[in-house]
Amino acid sequence: MKDHLLIATAYNNEARIYVSYTKTLVEKARKIHKTWPTATAALGRLLTAASMMSFFNKDESSLTLRIDGDGPIGWLLAESNAQGEVRGNVDKPDVYLKYNDSNKLAVGLAIGNGHLTIIRNPHLKNAYSSTVELITSEIAEDLTYYFSSSEQVPSSVGLGVLVNEDTSIKHAGGFIIQLLPQATEETIIQIEGALQKLTSVTNFFDNNKSTNELLTLLANGTENILEKHELKYHCECTKKYFSNLLQKLDITALETIIKEDKKAEIICQYCKKVYNFTEKELTEIVTKKQP
Ligand code: ZN
Repeated sequence: MKDHLLIATAYNNEARIYVSYTKTLVEKARKIHKTWPTATAALGRLLTAASMMSFFNKDESSLTLRIDGDGPIGWLLAESNAQGEVRGNVDKPDVYLKYNDSNKLAVGLAIGNGHLTIIRNPHLKNAYSSTVELITSEIAEDLTYYFSSSEQVPSSVGLGVLVNEDTSIKHAGGFIIQLLPQATEETIIQIEGALQKLTSVTNFFDNNKSTNELLTLLANGTENILEKHELKYHCECTKKYFSNLLQKLDITALETIIKEDKKAEIICQYCKKVYNFTEKELTEIVTKKQP
Protein backbone atom coordinates (compact mmCIF):
# COMPACT_ATOMS: atom_id res chain seq x y z
CA MET A 1 0.00 0.00 0.00
CA LYS A 2 1.44 3.37 -1.07
CA ASP A 3 1.32 6.33 1.31
CA HIS A 4 -1.92 8.18 0.86
CA LEU A 5 -4.73 10.12 2.50
CA LEU A 6 -8.50 9.70 2.16
CA ILE A 7 -10.82 12.57 3.03
CA ALA A 8 -14.49 11.79 3.47
CA THR A 9 -17.71 13.11 4.89
CA ALA A 10 -19.75 10.70 6.96
CA TYR A 11 -22.82 10.37 9.15
CA ASN A 12 -24.96 12.41 6.78
CA ASN A 13 -22.44 15.29 6.68
CA GLU A 14 -22.20 15.50 10.45
CA ALA A 15 -18.57 14.40 10.51
CA ARG A 16 -15.45 14.66 8.40
CA ILE A 17 -12.91 11.84 8.45
CA TYR A 18 -9.25 11.81 7.40
CA VAL A 19 -7.53 8.43 7.13
CA SER A 20 -3.88 8.06 6.16
CA TYR A 21 -1.28 5.41 5.50
CA THR A 22 2.28 6.70 6.01
CA LYS A 23 4.68 3.74 6.21
CA THR A 24 7.05 4.88 3.45
CA LEU A 25 7.36 8.47 4.62
CA VAL A 26 7.99 7.42 8.22
CA GLU A 27 10.60 4.92 7.01
CA LYS A 28 12.30 7.71 5.05
CA ALA A 29 12.29 9.92 8.16
CA ARG A 30 13.81 7.06 10.16
CA LYS A 31 16.64 6.64 7.66
CA ILE A 32 17.39 10.36 7.33
CA HIS A 33 17.46 11.00 11.08
CA LYS A 34 18.75 7.54 12.10
CA THR A 35 16.07 7.32 14.76
CA TRP A 36 15.82 4.53 17.32
CA PRO A 37 12.38 2.89 17.76
CA THR A 38 10.77 5.22 20.33
CA ALA A 39 12.00 8.33 18.54
CA THR A 40 10.83 6.76 15.25
CA ALA A 41 7.34 6.24 16.70
CA ALA A 42 7.17 9.78 18.10
CA LEU A 43 8.36 11.45 14.90
CA GLY A 44 6.23 9.11 12.77
CA ARG A 45 3.08 9.95 14.73
CA LEU A 46 3.75 13.67 14.42
CA LEU A 47 4.47 13.43 10.67
CA THR A 48 1.29 11.38 10.18
CA ALA A 49 -0.79 13.97 12.02
CA ALA A 50 0.82 16.81 10.04
CA SER A 51 0.13 15.03 6.74
CA MET A 52 -3.61 15.07 7.48
CA MET A 53 -3.84 18.49 9.12
CA SER A 54 -2.39 20.37 6.15
CA PHE A 55 -5.57 19.47 4.26
CA PHE A 56 -7.88 21.13 6.81
CA ASN A 57 -7.57 24.59 5.26
CA LYS A 58 -6.21 24.51 1.78
CA ASP A 59 -5.68 28.24 1.59
CA GLU A 60 -2.80 27.81 4.00
CA SER A 61 0.61 27.30 2.47
CA SER A 62 1.98 25.02 5.15
CA LEU A 63 1.74 23.93 8.74
CA THR A 64 4.28 23.18 11.46
CA LEU A 65 3.70 20.98 14.49
CA ARG A 66 6.23 21.36 17.24
CA ILE A 67 6.55 19.48 20.50
CA ASP A 68 8.86 20.63 23.27
CA GLY A 69 9.19 18.16 26.10
CA ASP A 70 11.42 17.63 29.12
CA GLY A 71 11.95 13.92 28.32
CA PRO A 72 14.97 12.36 26.59
CA ILE A 73 13.69 13.09 23.05
CA GLY A 74 13.73 16.86 23.59
CA TRP A 75 11.86 18.55 20.74
CA LEU A 76 10.10 17.21 17.64
CA LEU A 77 9.14 19.04 14.48
CA ALA A 78 6.88 18.17 11.55
CA GLU A 79 6.01 20.38 8.62
CA SER A 80 3.48 19.66 5.89
CA ASN A 81 1.69 21.26 2.97
CA ALA A 82 -1.47 20.67 0.95
CA GLN A 83 0.56 18.94 -1.76
CA GLY A 84 0.90 16.02 0.65
CA GLU A 85 4.58 16.70 1.34
CA VAL A 86 5.89 16.32 4.87
CA ARG A 87 9.28 16.67 6.52
CA GLY A 88 10.42 16.65 10.11
CA ASN A 89 13.18 16.50 12.63
CA VAL A 90 13.86 15.31 16.15
CA ASP A 91 16.24 16.70 18.73
CA LYS A 92 17.58 13.39 20.13
CA PRO A 93 17.01 10.51 17.68
CA ASP A 94 18.67 7.82 19.80
CA VAL A 95 15.83 7.06 22.20
CA TYR A 96 14.52 3.52 22.76
CA LEU A 97 12.19 3.28 25.77
CA LYS A 98 9.40 0.77 26.37
CA TYR A 99 6.61 0.58 28.94
CA ASN A 100 7.33 -2.35 31.25
CA ASP A 101 3.73 -3.52 31.53
CA SER A 102 2.67 -3.46 27.87
CA ASN A 103 6.05 -3.68 26.11
CA LYS A 104 4.85 -0.81 23.89
CA LEU A 105 7.15 1.98 22.75
CA ALA A 106 7.02 4.61 25.48
CA VAL A 107 6.47 7.77 23.42
CA GLY A 108 4.84 9.63 26.33
CA LEU A 109 7.79 8.92 28.62
CA ALA A 110 10.30 9.81 25.94
CA ILE A 111 8.66 13.21 25.34
CA GLY A 112 7.81 13.96 28.97
CA ASN A 113 5.96 17.09 30.06
CA GLY A 114 5.84 20.09 27.80
CA HIS A 115 3.97 21.86 25.04
CA LEU A 116 2.50 21.32 21.60
CA THR A 117 2.60 24.27 19.23
CA ILE A 118 0.82 24.51 15.90
CA ILE A 119 2.06 27.17 13.51
CA ARG A 120 0.01 27.95 10.42
CA ASN A 121 1.75 29.49 7.39
CA PRO A 122 5.12 29.29 9.22
CA HIS A 123 7.10 30.89 6.38
CA LEU A 124 4.75 33.77 5.66
CA LYS A 125 4.11 37.15 7.25
CA ASN A 126 0.64 36.06 8.38
CA ALA A 127 2.05 33.13 10.39
CA TYR A 128 0.16 32.46 13.57
CA SER A 129 0.59 29.90 16.27
CA SER A 130 -1.17 28.44 19.24
CA THR A 131 0.27 26.38 22.06
CA VAL A 132 -1.30 23.91 24.46
CA GLU A 133 0.13 21.92 27.30
CA LEU A 134 0.80 18.24 26.61
CA ILE A 135 -1.74 15.94 28.28
CA THR A 136 -0.33 12.41 27.84
CA SER A 137 2.56 13.21 25.43
CA GLU A 138 1.42 10.24 23.30
CA ILE A 139 0.59 12.88 20.61
CA ALA A 140 -2.89 11.67 19.50
CA GLU A 141 -4.52 12.62 22.82
CA ASP A 142 -2.61 15.90 22.85
CA LEU A 143 -3.94 16.79 19.41
CA THR A 144 -7.47 15.85 20.48
CA TYR A 145 -7.11 18.30 23.35
CA TYR A 146 -5.66 20.96 21.03
CA PHE A 147 -8.54 20.63 18.53
CA SER A 148 -11.21 20.98 21.19
CA SER A 149 -9.55 23.74 23.23
CA SER A 150 -7.88 25.89 20.56
CA GLU A 151 -10.01 25.28 17.49
CA GLN A 152 -13.33 24.35 19.11
CA VAL A 153 -13.62 21.31 16.82
CA PRO A 154 -14.38 18.18 18.84
CA SER A 155 -12.24 15.46 17.25
CA SER A 156 -10.97 11.93 17.69
CA VAL A 157 -7.40 11.25 16.70
CA GLY A 158 -5.62 7.93 16.25
CA LEU A 159 -1.96 7.66 15.26
CA GLY A 160 0.20 4.56 15.03
CA VAL A 161 3.70 3.45 14.07
CA LEU A 162 4.57 -0.24 14.20
CA VAL A 163 8.30 -0.97 14.22
CA ASN A 164 9.83 -4.26 13.01
CA GLU A 165 12.46 -6.23 14.96
CA ASP A 166 15.13 -4.78 12.65
CA THR A 167 13.84 -1.25 13.57
CA SER A 168 12.36 -0.57 10.11
CA ILE A 169 8.69 0.39 9.79
CA LYS A 170 6.06 -2.32 9.44
CA HIS A 171 3.03 -0.02 9.34
CA ALA A 172 2.23 3.61 10.02
CA GLY A 173 -0.93 5.62 9.68
CA GLY A 174 -3.71 7.40 11.44
CA PHE A 175 -7.08 9.05 11.39
CA ILE A 176 -8.79 12.25 12.49
CA ILE A 177 -12.56 12.41 12.91
CA GLN A 178 -13.97 15.93 13.16
CA LEU A 179 -17.47 16.52 14.47
CA LEU A 180 -19.21 19.24 12.52
CA PRO A 181 -21.43 21.75 14.37
CA GLN A 182 -24.64 20.02 13.23
CA ALA A 183 -23.58 16.65 14.72
CA THR A 184 -26.35 15.00 16.72
CA GLU A 185 -26.04 13.04 19.95
CA GLU A 186 -26.92 9.88 18.03
CA THR A 187 -23.97 10.38 15.65
CA ILE A 188 -21.61 10.95 18.57
CA ILE A 189 -22.77 7.65 20.12
CA GLN A 190 -22.27 5.85 16.79
CA ILE A 191 -18.73 7.23 16.45
CA GLU A 192 -17.88 6.19 20.00
CA GLY A 193 -19.15 2.69 19.16
CA ALA A 194 -17.01 2.56 16.02
CA LEU A 195 -13.90 3.66 17.95
CA GLN A 196 -14.44 0.87 20.46
CA LYS A 197 -14.17 -1.69 17.64
CA LEU A 198 -10.69 -0.44 16.78
CA THR A 199 -7.89 -1.72 19.03
CA SER A 200 -5.17 0.24 17.24
CA VAL A 201 -4.55 1.70 13.79
CA THR A 202 -1.42 -0.38 13.21
CA ASN A 203 -3.09 -3.62 14.40
CA PHE A 204 -5.82 -2.91 11.89
CA PHE A 205 -3.31 -2.53 9.03
CA ASP A 206 -1.36 -5.52 10.33
CA ASN A 207 -4.48 -7.64 9.71
CA ASN A 208 -4.12 -6.86 6.00
CA LYS A 209 -6.83 -4.23 6.07
CA SER A 210 -6.82 -1.11 3.91
CA THR A 211 -7.44 2.58 4.60
CA ASN A 212 -10.82 2.21 2.85
CA GLU A 213 -11.77 -0.50 5.35
CA LEU A 214 -10.62 1.68 8.25
CA LEU A 215 -12.74 4.51 6.90
CA THR A 216 -15.77 2.21 6.61
CA LEU A 217 -15.29 1.07 10.20
CA LEU A 218 -14.97 4.63 11.53
CA ALA A 219 -17.93 5.85 9.47
CA ASN A 220 -20.13 2.83 10.16
CA GLY A 221 -20.50 2.51 6.39
CA THR A 222 -21.81 6.06 5.89
CA GLU A 223 -18.66 7.45 4.28
CA ASN A 224 -18.62 9.47 1.10
CA ILE A 225 -15.03 9.85 -0.11
CA LEU A 226 -14.32 13.37 -1.35
CA GLU A 227 -10.60 13.29 -2.06
CA LYS A 228 -7.58 11.02 -2.24
CA HIS A 229 -4.02 12.37 -2.08
CA GLU A 230 -0.57 10.88 -2.25
CA LEU A 231 1.67 11.57 0.72
CA LYS A 232 5.45 11.67 0.76
CA TYR A 233 8.49 12.78 2.73
CA HIS A 234 9.88 15.64 0.74
CA CYS A 235 12.18 18.51 1.59
CA GLU A 236 12.01 21.54 -0.64
CA CYS A 237 15.35 23.03 0.41
CA THR A 238 17.63 24.58 -2.21
CA LYS A 239 21.05 26.22 -2.22
CA LYS A 240 19.30 29.52 -2.93
CA TYR A 241 17.29 29.14 0.30
CA PHE A 242 20.45 28.76 2.40
CA SER A 243 22.18 31.51 0.46
CA ASN A 244 19.31 33.81 1.50
CA LEU A 245 19.73 32.68 5.09
CA LEU A 246 23.44 33.48 5.00
CA GLN A 247 22.58 36.87 3.57
CA LYS A 248 20.65 37.60 6.78
CA LEU A 249 23.79 37.24 8.92
CA ASP A 250 25.58 40.45 9.73
CA ILE A 251 28.64 41.39 7.71
CA THR A 252 31.07 40.89 10.58
CA ALA A 253 29.86 37.32 11.12
CA LEU A 254 30.19 36.56 7.42
CA GLU A 255 33.66 38.12 7.23
CA THR A 256 34.75 36.03 10.21
CA ILE A 257 33.59 32.84 8.45
CA ILE A 258 35.46 33.84 5.29
CA LYS A 259 38.62 34.72 7.20
CA GLU A 260 38.70 31.70 9.49
CA ASP A 261 37.11 28.88 7.48
CA LYS A 262 37.29 30.15 3.88
CA LYS A 263 34.10 28.17 3.27
CA ALA A 264 30.78 27.29 4.86
CA GLU A 265 28.99 23.98 5.09
CA ILE A 266 25.30 24.00 5.88
CA ILE A 267 23.31 20.84 6.55
CA CYS A 268 19.55 20.97 6.05
CA GLN A 269 17.88 19.96 9.31
CA TYR A 270 15.02 18.17 7.52
CA CYS A 271 16.78 16.10 4.85
CA LYS A 272 20.44 16.28 5.98
CA LYS A 273 21.52 17.39 2.52
CA VAL A 274 24.86 19.23 2.65
CA TYR A 275 25.30 22.60 0.95
CA ASN A 276 28.82 23.93 0.46
CA PHE A 277 29.62 27.59 -0.03
CA THR A 278 33.04 28.49 -1.36
CA GLU A 279 35.07 31.53 -0.34
CA LYS A 280 34.07 33.17 -3.64
CA GLU A 281 30.35 32.55 -3.05
CA LEU A 282 30.58 33.87 0.51
CA THR A 283 32.41 36.98 -0.69
CA GLU A 284 29.64 37.58 -3.24
CA ILE A 285 27.07 37.39 -0.44
CA VAL A 286 29.02 40.01 1.55
CA THR A 287 29.33 42.23 -1.54
CA LYS A 288 25.56 42.09 -2.08
CA LYS A 289 25.01 43.18 1.51
CA GLN A 290 27.22 46.23 1.27
CA PRO A 291 25.23 49.40 0.69
ZN1 ZN B 1 16.31 19.78 3.06
